[in-house]
Amino acid sequence: MRKTFLALAAALLASPALADTLIDNANGVQVDQASRIQHFTGLLIGDDGKIVKILHTGDKRPKAQTIVDAGGRTLLPGMIDAHGHVMDLGFGALRLNLVGTRSLAELQQRLRAYAATHPDAKWIQGFGWNQELWPERKFPTAADLDAIIPDRPVVLERVDGHAIVANSAAMRAAGVTAATPAPAGGRIENGLFVDAARELVDKAIPTPTQAEMDEAFAKAQQILLGFGVTGVGSMSTRLEDWNTFRRAGEAGRLQVRLMTYLLGLEPLKTIPHPTGWMYGDRLRAQGVKFFADGALGSRGAWLKQPYADKPDTRGLQFHSDAELLAETNTAAAAGFQIATHAIGDAANEQIISIYEQLHRRYPGDRRWRIEHFQIVDPADIPRLAPAGIIASMQPTHQTSDRLMAEERLGPNRLKGAYAWQSVLKSGAKLAFGTDFPVESPNPFPGLSAAISRQDINGQPPGGWIPSERLTFGEALHAYTRGSAYAGFADDRIGALEPGKWADFIIVDRDPTKVDAQALARTDVLETWVGGKKVWARPSSSPPERGK
Ligand SMILES: [Zn+2]
Repeated sequence: MRKTFLALAAALLASPALADTLIDNANGVQVDQASRIQHFTGLLIGDDGKIVKILHTGDKRPKAQTIVDAGGRTLLPGMIDAHGHVMDLGFGALRLNLVGTRSLAELQQRLRAYAATHPDAKWIQGFGWNQELWPERKFPTAADLDAIIPDRPVVLERVDGHAIVANSAAMRAAGVTAATPAPAGGRIENGLFVDAARELVDKAIPTPTQAEMDEAFAKAQQILLGFGVTGVGSMSTRLEDWNTFRRAGEAGRLQVRLMTYLLGLEPLKTIPHPTGWMYGDRLRAQGVKFFADGALGSRGAWLKQPYADKPDTRGLQFHSDAELLAETNTAAAAGFQIATHAIGDAANEQIISIYEQLHRRYPGDRRWRIEHFQIVDPADIPRLAPAGIIASMQPTHQTSDRLMAEERLGPNRLKGAYAWQSVLKSGAKLAFGTDFPVESPNPFPGLSAAISRQDINGQPPGGWIPSERLTFGEALHAYTRGSAYAGFADDRIGALEPGKWADFIIVDRDPTKVDAQALARTDVLETWVGGKKVWARPSSSPPERGK
C-alpha cells in the first residue's frame, strides 16, 4: 500500500503536466516588449488557467491531459480595450440603435419602428446618431422627434455621448422649457442638451432595475467576447455598475477582466481605496476617471485657439486648474490611479501640468492616464514620458473624426491630432482601445486604422497624415501589452508568457500576412479566458461589424 502511494507520488512528481491543456498546431502571433513580432506554435496551460510554457516548431510536446488541435489557425493574445463603457455597451445594444443613420428621416423611421415594437417602454431611449453623417448636417430638434412620438418621452444620445436630443414629452417630464438657462459647461438649443446640460433631462429618466442592469452586462460581455476582447479598462464606472460587476463575479458569470475606473469622487464614499483583484483576477477597482473637457463633434473640446468653424468659442473648460488638481489629488492620495478625459489641446495641456505636479508629489509608479489625447499641441507631447503619463487612445476615432476634425480645427492645427507615432517616438507609453460604444468594440478596424490611417474602405488613399502610422507590431503592442500596462495588469495579462493568464483568441486570418483592409475584416472564431473557451462563433451568424 505504502509502496503504491510512493510510486504514485513519484509518478505525479515526474509528470506535473498531466492535468494540463496543450493547445497545439497553432499559428501563434504576439509581440515582445519592443513590439517585435514573435511566432509560436503551442501553449501549455496549467490547471490554474495560467501559461506554463510557450512552444515553438520543433520543441518536444509535453504530455497533457487535454490536447486541442488549433488546426493551423492563427492564435493571438486576448485583446485588451484600454477604454470602454461596459454598461453603456450593454444598454446600447438593448436600446434603439441609431448608429449609422444616414439622415434625419432614417432616424425618425427607426424611432417609429422601435416605438411600435416596444409599446411598454415608458421612456424611449436611443443612442448613436451623428448629424455629421447626414446630408443636412444639422442637429436634430425636439420638433423632429415630436413629429414621430408626441406622447411618450424620447431621449436620443449622440454617438459621442456628449449631447442628447429630447422630445417635448421628455422635457415636460424633466421640467425643462425653452426658457431654462443652460448650466455652466453646457448648452441647450431646440431640445438639444450638450455636456453639463444633459443632466437636466437625464435625471428624469427612470433608473434601470437590478435585473435590467444584469441583462445589459450579460449582453455587453457577449459582444466583447465575440470581438476577442478579454480585458477592458472599464471607464466612468458608477456604484451601481460596480455592484452589477460584483453580482456577475459572485455568480461566476464574469469572464472579461475589468480594470475599473470609478466616475469621479462620488463612488469613493463606498469604495474609499482601490480593491485588490477579485474573482480570479477578473475585477478590480483601481482608478478614478475625471473629465477636463467635452468632445470635438459637439464643440465641447477645449482648444487653445478658437474653433475654425465657430470662431466665437474655444469649447468647454470643465474645471479650473485648482479644482482639477484638488479632485485628482484626493483620488491619488487614496491610492487610486488617475485617468482623465482630455480631447482639446488646451485640456491636454491642463491635465499634463496637473499630472506633472502630482508626479512630484507621488513619485512612485502611478501611471497617470490621459484618455483620448486627441488634439494636442506638438510642443506638449514630449512632456508625457518624464512625468510617467500614458496616452490612452482610440485609433478608430481618427478614421471616424477626420473630416470633422479638419473643419473644427482648420488645416494648420492637425500636427498633433491622433498622433500615435509622435507619442511613441517621444518615449511615452501608448494604450489602445475604442471608447465603445462610441465606436464598435471590435479591435480589428482599430488595428487596421493604426497601421494605415485609413478607414475600412481604404479612405483616404495614402492615409490621413500617414507619418503617424504605426507598424502592426506597435499597434498590437498598444492593444495588448500597452493596455495591460495602462491598467496595472501587465504582471498577469497582455502577453502569452509563463505565469500569465491563458487569455487568447483564435481568428480567421494571419494579421501579419494581410493588408490593412483585410485586417479590419478579421473575424474572431474562439475566445479563451484563463485557459477556458468562453466564446465560440456560431457557425451561422458572423459577429456585428465595426463601422
Ligand atoms: Zn469614454
